Amino acid sequence: MVKTYDYIVIGGGSGGIASANRAGMHGAKVLLLEGGAIGGTCVNVGCVPKKVMWQASTMREMLERDMAGYGFDAAIRSFDFRKLVQNREEYIEFLHTAYQRGLDSNHVERVNQYAQFIDEQTIKAGEETYTAPNILIAVGGRPKKLGIPGEEYAIDSNGFFALEELPKRVVVIGAGYVAAELAGTVLGLGSETHWAFRKDHPLRSFDEMLSSKAVEHYQKSGMMVHPNAVPKFIEKKESGELLICFENGMDITADCIIFGTGREPNTDRLGLENTAVQLDEKGYVKVDKYQNTTQKGIYAVGDVIGKIDLTPVAIAAGRRLSERLFNGKTEEYLDYETIPTVIFTHPPIGTVGLTEKEAIAKYGKEQIKLYRSTFTPMYFALGEYRQKCDIKMVCVGQEEKIVGLHAIGLGVDEMLQGFAVAVKMGATKKDFDNTVAIHPTGAEEFVTMR
Ligand SMILES: Cc1cc2nc3c(=O)[nH]c(=O)nc-3n(C[C@H](O)[C@H](O)[C@H](O)COP(=O)(O)OP(=O)(O)OC[C@H]3O[C@@H](n4cnc5c(N)ncnc54)[C@H](O)[C@@H]3O)c2cc1C
Repeated sequence: MVKTYDYIVIGGGSGGIASANRAGMHGAKVLLLEGGAIGGTCVNVGCVPKKVMWQASTMREMLERDMAGYGFDAAIRSFDFRKLVQNREEYIEFLHTAYQRGLDSNHVERVNQYAQFIDEQTIKAGEETYTAPNILIAVGGRPKKLGIPGEEYAIDSNGFFALEELPKRVVVIGAGYVAAELAGTVLGLGSETHWAFRKDHPLRSFDEMLSSKAVEHYQKSGMMVHPNAVPKFIEKKESGELLICFENGMDITADCIIFGTGREPNTDRLGLENTAVQLDEKGYVKVDKYQNTTQKGIYAVGDVIGKIDLTPVAIAAGRRLSERLFNGKTEEYLDYETIPTVIFTHPPIGTVGLTEKEAIAKYGKEQIKLYRSTFTPMYFALGEYRQKCDIKMVCVGQEEKIVGLHAIGLGVDEMLQGFAVAVKMGATKKDFDNTVAIHPTGAEEFVTMR
């Protein structure tokens, strides 16, 4: 028998859960179909375990590098990687329970099955068939490999979170933020780390200052960074060690090779051929600004639309969609402009708005005024290691409207959110100047730039 709902959500990750809960809150009869673990990428193999590992590696750095300057003799006697992983997974288990509680309180029914479209209003999941006039595709994506010989010996970000031991020598491949974060994390935890990417610099979609400073910081901390390195093949030696060879003739022997080489959408096994939902050439679902696909009654949010792959983006789009469908807010949609983000490198990066290059391309060079600041956070004032923080503000026009704000340094991950509100509201340089600084902090540099 076909079971009928007001709203079926396929995918119980960030976007799907948020949309299902909001629809349930407004009284809709909602079914959530999730084939894997509740919480999706972010909770299980993304933001959450990543941040835990970043925190652990930051702690080690601080203990080993910075404590002596403050008079502490803080040698690390041992490091139990398994304990870290076990505690991390217990925390994730706790989140699973919390997510289920949220679904229960909004009367969202959850079925633990992968789903496929039979037609535009009918879904098959396991042995059951379900129907609804409104269906959300929130199936996210998965790590992409490169297609080189021997790549079965490498792992991806999912594989990194499955590690039970910290590898001694690691090669991280890829130029994006996931590769940048994983490389910094394993380095901070104590592995010998190589970071290799195809072009001459990594993090190419971010402001050039962030990319070059991130590399500088990593090199200063002992990471071996290899630009212009295109992987050719991987071999497993008899000893169990891995050898990765690059097209430029370089080769590296390591215990673990991690691919952070991009992601692809989970749209290939959804039965979309049974609907009029169109995909772009990379397999992402095409949507308009209201998250409508090309099939009436079917919507898509999150990583599966290939726009901005971030949890709060998926959540915001999912909630707004449910406000529109089930709470009469017919004009509700997510504005994808000026979305702030943090990259958990060492030190972290915080960024919002246009890069310098994008601002010049949009407004013309003569319209752009840049402000920069480089300073040593007081935290580093006492030890031998002096890590700088760099900030760049990109302003436009006579009124110097701030269209981009980029920073890399200690604590900027926690500073940026508030400044992003100001930038989103259209703040000018003068507004920042008129705001009295908070002293002594790193954040005061944002309002005292000359
Ligand atoms: C290593 C890593 C670190 C990250 N760090 C951050 C970060 O710090 N901050 C941040 O904002 N974002 C981060 N992200 C990105 C973030 O995780 C994603 O943007 C977010 O999870 C996208 O949510 P979603 O709902 O679109 O998809 P997902 O969270 O991927 O959820 C999709 C769900 O759909 C399920 N599914 C797939 N196919 C089917 C099917 N046919 N039927 C039923 N279920 C199906 C999957 O099992 C999955 O649970 C990170 C990602 C990675 C990989």
